[in-house]
Amino acid sequence: MKLQATRKGLQLAELIRQEGVSHPDVIRVIAATPRDMFVPEGLKHKAYENNALPIGLGQTISQPFTVAQMTEQLLNAPFTINKVLEIGTGSGYQTAILAQLFPEVYSVERIKSLQFHAKRRMNQLDLHNVKMKHGDGWQGWSSKAPFDAIIVTAAASSLPEALIKQLSETGRLVIPVGENQQKLVLINKDSTALKTDEIGDVRFVPLVAGALA
Ligand code: SAH
Repeated sequence: MKLQATRKGLQLAELIRQEGVSHPDVIRVIAATPRDMFVPEGLKHKAYENNALPIGLGQTISQPFTVAQMTEQLLNAPFTINKVLEIGTGSGYQTAILAQLFPEVYSVERIKSLQFHAKRRMNQLDLHNVKMKHGDGWQGWSSKAPFDAIIVTAAASSLPEALIKQLSETGRLVIPVGENQQKLVLINKDSTALKTDEIGDVRFVPLVAGALA
């Protein structure tokens, strides 16, 4: 069953369109995704504001504009994207957006309880084209590679080598890079080279290195 636009969803989508994301498919799925399901009980009244919100354990659900902006980078790829890998499932909001746009979505999260709740939300929304894993996103998901696109929703101190390796021969990586000063970076891979473009300034929680919490 396809998710239907709601009044609040449409208002949020309109806000995002005014901020500069225009791809009709992004606007459509933002309008149809119930963001209130992805935020804690006490913050539901803020779910349709264009802000990041705490989701517990020191993590945040990303700002809707940023989610839209990153998703648009995938939709604008000059090749077909079938398989997408997301690093940093968090609430699962970005995952749910991707699942409505691409045939196969994979998502890795290092905090088990966040992953558990995100998985439950995918089931509630009937989004069955998502596979989730508890693990370290710096390592990607090698057994499911290659991916046509990879989207990282936490800021990396440097480019994770494993993710570049796990891109398809023609593939696209969208990743925030940096610590205090973060840039959203778009990396295009083709059979001969990597091309890097900066898209803008962003603020994400860090992509934590090493062992699982
Ligand atoms: N897309 C999410 C963003 C959540 S914040 C949303 O909109 O809800 C970033 C997430 O990345 C957090 O849940 C955090 O636990 C996770 N994360 C941080 N470092 C990670 C790592 N090395 N591997 C996997 N997930 C990581």
